Amino acid sequence: MSDINLDKEKNKVKSEKRMREIMTSYYIEAKTAELNNRKVAWITSGGPVEPLIAMDIIPVYPENHGAMIGASKMGSDLCAKAEGMGYSSDLCSYARADISCATVNGGPIGGLPKPDLLVCCNNICGTVLKWYEVQARYFKVPLFIFDTPFCHTEFSQEAKRYVLRQTEEYVLFLEGIMGRKMDHDRMKEVGRLSLEGQRLWQKVLDTAINKPSPLTAFDAFFHLALIVTLRGTQQTVDYYTMLLQEMEERVKEGIGAIPHEKYRLLWDNLPIWYRMKWLSEKFAKNDTCLVADTYTSAWCGGLKYMDENDFFNSAAEGYTRSYLNLGVDQMAEIVLAMIDKYQVHGLVMHSNRSCKPYSFGQYDIQRIVKKKRGLPSLIIEADMVDERSFSESQVETRIDAFVEMIRENKAGV
Ligand code: SF4
Repeated sequence: MSDINLDKEKNKVKSEKRMREIMTSYYIEAKTAELNNRKVAWITSGGPVEPLIAMDIIPVYPENHGAMIGASKMGSDLCAKAEGMGYSSDLCSYARADISCATVNGGPIGGLPKPDLLVCCNNICGTVLKWYEVQARYFKVPLFIFDTPFCHTEFSQEAKRYVLRQTEEYVLFLEGIMGRKMDHDRMKEVGRLSLEGQRLWQKVLDTAINKPSPLTAFDAFFHLALIVTLRGTQQTVDYYTMLLQEMEERVKEGIGAIPHEKYRLLWDNLPIWYRMKWLSEKFAKNDTCLVADTYTSAWCGGLKYMDENDFFNSAAEGYTRSYLNLGVDQMAEIVLAMIDKYQVHGLVMHSNRSCKPYSFGQYDIQRIVKKKRGLPSLIIEADMVDERSFSESQVETRIDAFVEMIRENKAGV
């Protein structure tokens, strides 16, 4: 085995295998739900999933499915199919892929299980509202819209009352579907497990503070799946406990995620799912480790507002103050705090054609980072699922030039 292969073997995260097993059995359970008299709810990635878990409803995430479609390089075809159905190519590629996939049961797992209900929370964007309305009509199932007002600067008392009221309506909606009352002791336990899972996820991400970092943002994109899909379960807590232990052992043994970490970068926006391998190798070859990202950390960003002894009240604020539901100044504050925490040398911003709320403020954030920390940033124009928006030669040239700039910056040239 060559040195490079030996390094690759050493750097591989062993918990990966367990994650694949859990995700496989989760999708099998969801796809056989009807046979087992279980109900399936499709829910947006930032939506309050805990009441579903407490009511024993299986949550399914079209966005997680979208990521799988992207990673399997099936995105362009499904997006083009949606365009043929009349949807604009400007529409988010998760929405396009999901809408067309539902009509043909396509994609890497032969489509998602049919939903019995839909839960849409607009704390990530406005696109999901229309997307879920389309799917509610297509599947002829009830849709619950959980409306979280945008937090330009603060979360007011009026906003809190407004969101809390919807939490009550949400529970009533689920009780109506299930024909039984919610068990509030069970709900309390699910809330506790949700927060424990988020705390563990934050700890996993924070192991990247170490030098060398035991994980890259590319690892985090992969290991994120459980905190998105199975938040509020013991399985998720157990998994992140195991992953954290593995990361801590790597830190103790000085094992870095890439063979020779010289430069540390922060990634902003969703991953480019169909180019994860190519990008991770490209950065690693330049001794550059993407140690953190604003995307995966969004699933523990609400922790500071949440209280396990008062889950419903505190979750109203935690869910409303999600990263994509904040004004640009607050987003920039989060980015600056991450720059300091993970001690990075620059910022890589994926200007994502699909995700407007993530991408519109990036040039402002880039300017603020330059002004306040003097750090350079690289903008990669692409799309998370639709490969037609990716130009390898252009991205490669930009990365090479950026790494050269970081090298010179660090050397004080
Ligand atoms: S527009 Fe962005 S936040 Fe909304 S569904 Fe698409 S990727 Fe997610």
